[in-house]
Amino acid sequence: MIIGVPKEIKISENRVGLTEAGVRQYVSEGHTVIVEKDAGVGSGISNEQYEKAGAKIIDTKKEVYAKADMIQKVKEPLPDEYELMKENQILYTYLHLAAEAKLTKVLCERKVKAIAYETIQLDNGSLPLLTPMSEVAGRMATQIGAFYLQKDHGGKGILMGGVTGVKPAKVTIIGGGVVGTNAAKMAVGLGASVTILDVNTARLEYLDDIFQGRCMTLFSNAKNIEDSVKESDLVVGGVLITGHKAPTLVSKEMISSMAKGSVVVDVAVDQGGCIETCRPTSHTSPTYEVDGVIHYCVPNMPGVVPRTSTYALTNVTLRYGSMIAAMGVEDAVAKSPALLKGLNVYGGHVVYEPVARDLHMEY
Ligand code: NAD
Repeated sequence: MIIGVPKEIKISENRVGLTEAGVRQYVSEGHTVIVEKDAGVGSGISNEQYEKAGAKIIDTKKEVYAKADMIQKVKEPLPDEYELMKENQILYTYLHLAAEAKLTKVLCERKVKAIAYETIQLDNGSLPLLTPMSEVAGRMATQIGAFYLQKDHGGKGILMGGVTGVKPAKVTIIGGGVVGTNAAKMAVGLGASVTILDVNTARLEYLDDIFQGRCMTLFSNAKNIEDSVKESDLVVGGVLITGHKAPTLVSKEMISSMAKGSVVVDVAVDQGGCIETCRPTSHTSPTYEVDGVIHYCVPNMPGVVPRTSTYALTNVTLRYGSMIAAMGVEDAVAKSPALLKGLNVYGGHVVYEPVARDLHMEY
């Protein structure tokens, strides 16, 4: 199979779909890997390193899409790439289609076989290809919150951990999954006063156990969210109902109840966001204010720490990529129920039920 790796074009997206180690593995399995010129530069991988690993460097994105049987990338294709995708081409990347009606339509029209990293799901419900990026984004969410809470960055001027004799910042984390747990680890580490809300009581028990009283767990309902958000300096949104658009849990009124100069980081923005006032921003213009509350809603947060993220991503994508390259999509999904859940569009139809339902499309 010919595997094509285009350069990412989303703003400040420095990750790339495959490391040089990944190229080496595909080549050793008998495949051809073509990489768009300079695709790896943002992640510190030169064209020469790719060539040394056995890839061919191709000058244009257009040529990569034209030649490849499978496109392996990081973020969803942007409008400039829509025309380049061809019938029966395999697209293996993050897609988040429940928040992307236009792209879903294009993938159907062009009869692309689209596999979304974020919906590949193991029997135990975990999402192995989302996890590493959620670890990155969760950890970043706290760092970013601390940054914007500074007065010189527009915030109320509070140090996360406080100091001796002065209260620390209050941090509310909605969703105690991978993003939430990692945001909490960083916030607890900085000495903040942390509350995590989740609807999954088993998860709350787990969090209670691992944090050993260093953060409070609360059942997620409207009342608890309202009370907790109101008192918070930083709110992190990290909920997910796999494949679906995120539920709106923090209303505009709740945001208005926060003190001016507080910060919200809605990590779930890639699935539409769980804060009513959230709209996607970019790394070049990451924040805006609503009622004096700073909103940070960047859908590709790990894109600015590519040296960490690119390697973490290839570590988890390669296993399923290898199966697809060896067997083709049809046999690979027949063999792996986890991979079958990743298949979102096939033969001109949405074949992943949560996306079809959220976008009111035929399934
Ligand atoms: P996860 O499945 O590990 O965790 C989600 C948690 O949300 C679960 O524990 C679930 O029980 C909880 N939840 C569901 N409904 C809830 C509710 N009503 N109230 C409170 N909690 C609720 O998911 P994750 O890996 O942590 O990802 C979270 C989100 O972050 C996803 O949308 C993911 O795509 C996104 N993400 C964004 C970026 C970015 O750059 N912005 C990067 C990585 C992940």
